[in-house]
Amino acid sequence: MSKLLLSKELQARCIGIARAGLPHEACGLIGGTRPLEDDSETTWQAESIHPVRNVKMSPTTFALDGQGMIEAENRIDDAGEEVIGVWHSHPSSPAVPSTIDIEDASIYDPFAAFVHVIVSLQGFAPTIAAFSYEQREDYPLRKYWLVRLGS
Ligand SMILES: [Zn+2]
Repeated sequence: MSKLLLSKELQARCIGIARAGLPHEACGLIGGTRPLEDDSETTWQAESIHPVRNVKMSPTTFALDGQGMIEAENRIDDAGEEVIGVWHSHPSSPAVPSTIDIEDASIYDPFAAFVHVIVSLQGFAPTIAAFSYEQREDYPLRKYWLVRLGS
């Protein structure tokens, strides 16, 4: 199974940004180091979390602001990191990709190379889950699978 190494500090940062963005979904980029691939397994090491404005201003969907995305990419470059993924929050649904998330994944991740993180604020305590997508011919309908979180 593929894995995302996301420290407790970065998880807390994601949750903090997600709460600050309520009632809308919050979103952004994840900086880190190039994934290590071992046959079917990928390990992403997250080093930084970057908020980007959700231009949809919606509690159920998100779209990264184009200019904000460029600025986040520049900060990630300047830190000697790479963009390894996209994160967003679900204010009132589980940390599972929505149908729109699955359809939109290829906008930010055309080569199915990123890790996708969802922070759910539903329920008593926030939960975080990570997913990756399978590159398929029948784009944009792609399968996803759960990535194990580590730290
Ligand atoms: Zn979503």
